[in-house]
Amino acid sequence: MVPARGAVRIWGGAMRILFVATEAYPLIKTGGLADVTGALSAALAEGGEAIRLLLPAYGPAIAGLRHRHLGASMGTVLGWSVRLIEGYMPDSGIPVTLVDCPPLFDRPGNPYSRNDGHDWPDNHERFAVLSRVAATLAVGEEGAGPVDIVHAHDWQTGLVCAYLWQHRRHHGREGTPASVFTVHNLAFQGRFSPHVMERIGLPVDMFSVNGVEFHGDVSYLKAGLYYSDKITTVSPTYAHEIQTDQGGEGLQGLLLARANDLAGILNGEDDRLWNPADDPAIHYPFTARHLSGKALDKADLQRELGLEVKADAPLFAVISRLTEQKGVDLVLKAISDIMEKGGQLVILGAGDSRFETACRMAAKTCPGWVAVRIGLDEALAHRIQAGSDALLMPSRFEPCGLSQMYAMRYGTLPVVRHTGGLADTVVDVDDSDGGTGFVFDTATLPAFLAAVHRVFDLYRNRAVWQSIQGHAMGQDFSWRRSAERYRRLYRELIHQ
Ligand code: ADP
Repeated sequence: MVPARGAVRIWGGAMRILFVATEAYPLIKTGGLADVTGALSAALAEGGEAIRLLLPAYGPAIAGLRHRHLGASMGTVLGWSVRLIEGYMPDSGIPVTLVDCPPLFDRPGNPYSRNDGHDWPDNHERFAVLSRVAATLAVGEEGAGPVDIVHAHDWQTGLVCAYLWQHRRHHGREGTPASVFTVHNLAFQGRFSPHVMERIGLPVDMFSVNGVEFHGDVSYLKAGLYYSDKITTVSPTYAHEIQTDQGGEGLQGLLLARANDLAGILNGEDDRLWNPADDPAIHYPFTARHLSGKALDKADLQRELGLEVKADAPLFAVISRLTEQKGVDLVLKAISDIMEKGGQLVILGAGDSRFETACRMAAKTCPGWVAVRIGLDEALAHRIQAGSDALLMPSRFEPCGLSQMYAMRYGTLPVVRHTGGLADTVVDVDDSDGGTGFVFDTATLPAFLAAVHRVFDLYRNRAVWQSIQGHAMGQDFSWRRSAERYRRLYRELIHQ
């Protein structure tokens, strides 16, 4: 007999939680999602929960696994032969299961797209297989017994919730784990032709407005939003924004209908990895009280990037996907102003080819003052956070944003638009004595430039600047508080 939820399965207070995602730092990362799954799982484990991560067996993930060994065979899943690879996270030691299906996951390029930036044409199959394996393991069909909670992240894992719902329909509530679906970015929806329904093993009756259908397509994101037991997103303001016509990406009706099951829980920053007093990527550690190392890191960075070594030139930074969402176009248009006022700019990023090209051009046009590095470089991201003065994040929307939190930790003052998690984490210096950065309202060049000009004005006043750095570095964005909110949510579900 399957034990009742909330009774036997919470062994010694520990909940059995399966995290399903496509990224987790340090195994595989393209953006903030990896930071969150890596750090949140570690924080939950520290809180005593029994947590396991399930990821696709990408080459770098296999290579990075500690104590790697072959796991069970899953037989044929949606027509693909699948094995499991087991091991542990190299840093937190959390158990990891990789879904090994080389024709689907062992490819060059990134987890979602080819080297030329185009999505893999079979993404619907790749992530359906991942989700199907997750659901199968979660209900305990592979002999390990059911878990208490399945926590799925973003559209790639939305189908997990649909498969679990199907299982519940046939086997009842008691034998089916509860599901939590976290939206890290509502703009990425995983939409495919309705023809995929049969391939992914869903019955036609689930292709409905009350199901996975969205404007005539199958939406994996909607599958997560519709079939999960609870929805979370990564900041309170974004949770509100996605229920509006402006921010809902067409899903606001569903999100409003599920408002009682929707929570905005702010992401945290991983202070094991982002700590200027103890960061192996930088040469000169520093703290809020002893900032002299930061000036040396700035000179180091200027040398490394081929910028003129000038202590008094405000150094602006962008560390970001180069997309419209992130307002990269606004940064590019602001370059001439920044130059005129004697500032420098470093851009580290990858993304839309038109923005990559425009960034490269800017570096060519302004040698010594603008430096651009295209690609993903984790260690350089740390050195830029340490050596810069201000971080530019003029995002059009921002579910949470982590870079602004890292910036504050490193005494690099963020310049952000008042949206999503940026609004929840940065306090404008003109609004409070405890201000931590520069906030502007509209996604227009004049509004952005006005904020940049305020940076120049304040930067000249070293005493004031340093006191703002002190406030920024003193913020507590640790995961402990957020992890506690997730634990409460899981418990609520188990006891329902
Ligand atoms: P996103 O929307 O991309 O998830 P976040 O601000 O939430 O944005 O998280 C961005 C994460 O990705 C941060 O850890 C940041 O340092 C990292 N990052 C972004 N671009 C790069 C890059 N080109 N190289 C290294 N790290 C990057």
